[in-house]
Amino acid sequence: GRCVVAVDGPSGSGKSTVSRRLATALDAQYLDTGAMYRAVTWAVLQSGVEPHDSDAVAKVAGEVQLEIGTDPSAPHISVDGTAVDGPIRGPEVTGAVSAVAAVPWVRQLLVAQQRKLIAEAGRMVVEGRDIGTVVAPDADLKVYLTASADARARRRSAEDATDVAATAADLHRRDQLDSTRATDPLQQADDAVVLDTTGLGIDEVVSRLRALLDG
Ligand code: C5P
Repeated sequence: GRCVVAVDGPSGSGKSTVSRRLATALDAQYLDTGAMYRAVTWAVLQSGVEPHDSDAVAKVAGEVQLEIGTDPSAPHISVDGTAVDGPIRGPEVTGAVSAVAAVPWVRQLLVAQQRKLIAEAGRMVVEGRDIGTVVAPDADLKVYLTASADARARRRSAEDATDVAATAADLHRRDQLDSTRATDPLQQADDAVVLDTTGLGIDEVVSRLRALLDG
């Protein structure tokens, strides 16, 4: 039957790994909403638009065609037919994405696409910042993942091979922007299960979430 799991939390909290693994275990689809904000940001930078120019950013967002895969074993995203899986993880996009994601019209467009994908899937694990609060407030399970700033920086820097101090500074900067923006900031839903993943392995986190769904 239908089953929607919302996974929110700050950068480096383990959302992506946990969400993909949980989707596979549940035989569900997987939606990485951060990849969508990153893809729009890639298009903004590609078109030479300044990420803080809200009107120009909104215009780009309205013109691009995003295509996102929802198979947890093969994440894929393209912009107007061009695969951008590599470039959206680069420092240019990471540096500009929070500004782009703060533009209300960008959020309106992407939230509408996300809701459509969720409705089509029926069974889906969706990760982001506003899934339990805005995108899927009626989700069957809402999870809010946290981890110490130190653990988050260490994980992220292991993933992308940049040094821990620089990664910590970037995570802090992004979390600050993401949780203080006017439109749909990073927020814990009132009915979310909060899980601190600092001392936990992925298997442990995934099995706790499965237990919540079964129970
Ligand atoms: O999850 P990820 O780090 O890839 O997200 C990149 C950025 O996209 C976040 O820092 C945030 O600015 C934005 N985002 C958002 N809402 C979401 C998912 C991501 O604003 N649901």
